[in-house]
Amino acid sequence: MAKFTLFAKILNTLLPNMCEICHSFCDQEICDSCLKTLPIHPKIKSIPPLTNIHSLCRYEDPIKHLLSRIKFDGQKHIASHLSTLLKRHIPSQTLKNIDVIIPVPLHSARYKKRGFNQVDLLFQPLAKATHIPYHNHILSRIKATPPLFNLDKEQRPIILQDAFCIHHPKVILGKNVMIVDDIYTTGSTLNACGRLLKKKGAKSVQGMTLCEVK
Ligand SMILES: [Zn+2]
Repeated sequence: MAKFTLFAKILNTLLPNMCEICHSFCDQEICDSCLKTLPIHPKIKSIPPLTNIHSLCRYEDPIKHLLSRIKFDGQKHIASHLSTLLKRHIPSQTLKNIDVIIPVPLHSARYKKRGFNQVDLLFQPLAKATHIPYHNHILSRIKATPPLFNLDKEQRPIILQDAFCIHHPKVILGKNVMIVDDIYTTGSTLNACGRLLKKKGAKSVQGMTLCEVK
């Protein structure tokens, strides 16, 4: 990845329409050449209690860089390109029997700091395009957990115990739920949410993430 030089930063301020990846001038945030370089690598796995977990890309540059720009630099406009990728590459069959899409929530403190949940930006357009109800107030994260990538596989489920709660179980009762997130690492977060959703009456739970850590 080309280094984001001071020169490029100045140009970016003066001329906002530069490609986020290669910094060439273009009329959109990511140029057509760079869009073709995104590490699309669809995968499906089955990890109970989730029936299936779908992921679209590998968590590597330039996707990694783009997600970081969204989350930590507040560059929300980039998310529309990633959302378009989801709409383009997720087979319609995958969402055929889904009744409701629910995002993995941020803890309220992190949400306040960031001002948005990047998962909403990525998946709300997909829900809209497929006419599936998207509910981002059903599930909330009531325990502030440290970043999971610092923890080993055994510690993650322990840290996530009682980390989530469901406010309106009627919405998921007897429903086929798709829980969505930006990054799949070990599946601990999706697993914790999936268990809770099943416990509260969901008929089935699947997961979907934009990318997966190899
Ligand atoms: Zn480019």
